[in-house]
Amino acid sequence: MNILTFDIEEWFAEETLYGDRKEKYSEYDMYLGKILDTLDENNVKGTFFCVGGLVSKYDYVIKRIAERGHEIGCHSNHHIFLNKMSYEEVLEDTKTAIDAIEQLIGMKVLSYRAPAFSVDKSNKWVFEILAQCGIERDASVFPAARDFGGFSNFPSDMPCIINQGGHIIKEFPICMTNVFGKRLAYSGGGYFRLFPLSLILSEMSRANYAMAYFHIGDLIPESNAVMTREEFESYFKVNGSLINRYKRFIKANIGKSGAFGKMVSLINKQSFISIDEADTLIDWGGMKQIEV
Ligand SMILES: [Zn+2]
Repeated sequence: MNILTFDIEEWFAEETLYGDRKEKYSEYDMYLGKILDTLDENNVKGTFFCVGGLVSKYDYVIKRIAERGHEIGCHSNHHIFLNKMSYEEVLEDTKTAIDAIEQLIGMKVLSYRAPAFSVDKSNKWVFEILAQCGIERDASVFPAARDFGGFSNFPSDMPCIINQGGHIIKEFPICMTNVFGKRLAYSGGGYFRLFPLSLILSEMSRANYAMAYFHIGDLIPESNAVMTREEFESYFKVNGSLINRYKRFIKANIGKSGAFGKMVSLINKQSFISIDEADTLIDWGGMKQIEV
């Protein structure tokens, strides 16, 4: 089973974080249109995790995706990393986002992904908040170490049931592979851009479960400028030293040229489904229960 997901925040992030470059909005519109057309051509439905902050000014983005029949999930309200917020702040952020999106699309939001996979043992109460807010399916677990976020000791990269103090969530983690003895994610982010398509396709063919995940900004070839210290620290909430900003810049831009075409080829060559469809196909009784 291969699942296809997109995290949708670029319009909101452009306005609040990237410098409000006027020409970028139409570029994001164009790339979203190309993605939706590719999915229609392949008769594929995916899950699009949308930031609630899009609703007030960029509601057309979410509507456009929903009208094509894809699942709309929640990707927080303001794309602030959950491990930088208190319990009360995450509760408020999650509720606000879900309410806004549900009112816009007239449907329940049942799937969630945290910005930058920012859920781990230290803020496992996030699962309680998700259950309280009516979320049934989560895709926030990245079961390996990473720069920001990542749940490195999470014991599974297959769909499983998370039990957090009696709160139950169906989890769809990011899938991993071993390359040179290292556990790496290959189906999204920087390693998707770095690895040859043949390797990604063969990994997916071997696996019983794969989770592809993309941000539109990761697929646009033009390199962004190195962030200023202020921009970096307001976004990542860690020290914005020159070395940290350059490291981030290189990671964020590596392999971007050709990334969009690679994603299209992947969708042409593999079959994909959305998280809500996967939920109906999985025998949950036979899946691991994990207490976090
Ligand atoms: Zn995101």
